[in-house]
Amino acid sequence: MFRLDSENVYRAKVLEEIPWLEHGFGTRLSLQWPGTADLATVQQIHSDKVLIAKRIGSAGGGDALISNQPGITLSVRTADCLPILMADTRNRAVAAVHAGWRGTILEIVPKTVQAMAEQFGTHPDDLVIAIGPGIGACCFEVGPEVAIQFAKLFPERADLDQQTKVDLVETNLRLLRRNGGSVRQIATSGQCTCCRSDLFHSYRRDRDAAGRMVSAIRLRQGDR
Ligand SMILES: [Zn+2]
Repeated sequence: MFRLDSENVYRAKVLEEIPWLEHGFGTRLSLQWPGTADLATVQQIHSDKVLIAKRIGSAGGGDALISNQPGITLSVRTADCLPILMADTRNRAVAAVHAGWRGTILEIVPKTVQAMAEQFGTHPDDLVIAIGPGIGACCFEVGPEVAIQFAKLFPERADLDQQTKVDLVETNLRLLRRNGGSVRQIATSGQCTCCRSDLFHSYRRDRDAAGRMVSAIRLRQGDR
């Protein structure tokens, strides 16, 4: 379950219930979010590269940030691609992921789980994941050259050799089930950025006029 709060930021209940962290998924109305000087960012390149955020500012080229340090806010920017936030409830580590279709197919999400396992000892049983607003299966139509790349994960579909619609959220859920074992909790927003022009920027809808929305997660200061 997600709720839009008074700052026009989406909050996932599964992450709000964790007392030692703060998070949010920005919308086009959340101008103050995240409103902080301690942002860690990535130069997003639609890759499968996971970076450890050790300081404020750009961590370089990549599409996921992980950290267990308070005082650093991990952030990603999206407008149709999926913003995905993660928390390891046992080891107190967090991740922010940018996953469009390329990153999804390159398995950036399970690779982020793997990187957290290597860096922080994260076990899927302790992992809470929230998948924020992105382009929905209702709107994400792709050509055959893209659709065919989803065929391995959707063996029940016979239409992936032609122009058709694909579901990035479901793809990531299947990848997590296949690679990540049993993640403790996964929440999805159910919101399509392309459908809801009142709330979200959408690159597919607005092209070069589209803004970007910031989603972010951080460990609270002084709460270890
Ligand atoms: Zn839609």
